[in-house]
Amino acid sequence: MDITQYKDVYVYIEQRGSRVQSVALELLGKARELADTLGEKVVAVFPGYHISDQATNLFSWGADKVLCIDAPELENYLTEPYAQAVFKVITTYKPSVFLIGATTIGRDLGPRLSARLETGLTADCTKLDISEDKQLLMTRPAFGGNLMATIMCTQRRPQMSTVRPGVMKKMIKDQTRKGEVEFVDIQFDNKKIERVCLVETHKIDKGLKDISEARILVSGGRGIGNKENFEKLQSLAAVLNNAEVSSSRAMVDAGVMTHDRQVGQTGKTVRPDVYFALGISGAIQHLAGMEESEFIIAVNKDKYAPIFQVADLGIVGDANKIVPLLTERLENELKK
Ligand SMILES: Cc1cc2nc3c(=O)[nH]c(=O)nc-3n(C[C@H](O)[C@H](O)[C@H](O)COP(=O)(O)OP(=O)(O)OC[C@H]3O[C@@H](n4cnc5c(N)ncnc54)[C@H](O)[C@@H]3O)c2cc1C
Repeated sequence: MDITQYKDVYVYIEQRGSRVQSVALELLGKARELADTLGEKVVAVFPGYHISDQATNLFSWGADKVLCIDAPELENYLTEPYAQAVFKVITTYKPSVFLIGATTIGRDLGPRLSARLETGLTADCTKLDISEDKQLLMTRPAFGGNLMATIMCTQRRPQMSTVRPGVMKKMIKDQTRKGEVEFVDIQFDNKKIERVCLVETHKIDKGLKDISEARILVSGGRGIGNKENFEKLQSLAAVLNNAEVSSSRAMVDAGVMTHDRQVGQTGKTVRPDVYFALGISGAIQHLAGMEESEFIIAVNKDKYAPIFQVADLGIVGDANKIVPLLTERLENELKK
């Protein structure tokens, strides 16, 4: 493979029901930084159906060019048609770097593409950088989060990476940015597509917001103990604006919380304005998912708990007593 033929930083633009997902905009922000270091362009690969009208919006988030694949075969996400479309784009345009969000869709599509392209894929990166010799440095936790491994893909292209939602920062929206939209026509191999079809879609509305989108997270750990005490956290979240309850893995394993509420290495990465860590010790795998929060408030009985090392405000005490007092105080303050 002649890797010198490959250039530019490409981002897979994930949309669901034609709605561009936040992670795609976060990746455009990171791609912008990487491309500026390389002196290259940011290209958005935007597959879907009836999505063309949104293509130009991607310029404001950092793209220089959008490759739009608008086809009925791409109405709903299915592995085969999406893999065919993006594979075709990559083999035609030869990107040097290809970034995908580590969502359920991205985790399905990424490995499929890397296998077809015979290139490497570093999953769940927490940091991306460019080396002095212009290689992509892909950093991710390894060995249970005990060390960070930096991986390079020196012999093959594209250098592929998935990044979880909430890890990278979007750039400040710049509506003056302009670019080029190119429509890509794909000849699908229908025989392969027909093997799998979508029969029905059931949308589960849990009435809850995705924790990676909440501005405030009230997060509880083993120190909170049980479901009843978690209801106290719910009351605290209810008095705060744009707040959700999340938890450590200990409480998910105990069946008190569902996995979509778990923060950490094997849960979600979050970056809220305020993160309450209540009865959470601060294990490295938990910190990996929340240490980038703007302001961390920790409540723990143990003054030596590691969570205090990342906290902006620490309270040594019983969280189950402090939370109701805090809720009451906030309620009274907000009524004024
Ligand atoms: C491969 C791997 C992946 C993992 N992924 C994740 C992950 O994604 N997310 C995650 O969270 N963990 C993850 N873990 C587990 C992680 O190592 C810890 O076991 C877990 O985070 C501990 O949860 P905790 O802090 O709630 O419980 P503990 O570590 O048991 O801490 C409980 C804390 O509560 C305090 N406490 C007790 N009672 C009270 C009270 N009444 N008031 C105030 N404080 C009190 C204690 O002093 C203690 O500090 C992973 C582990 C591995 C090996």
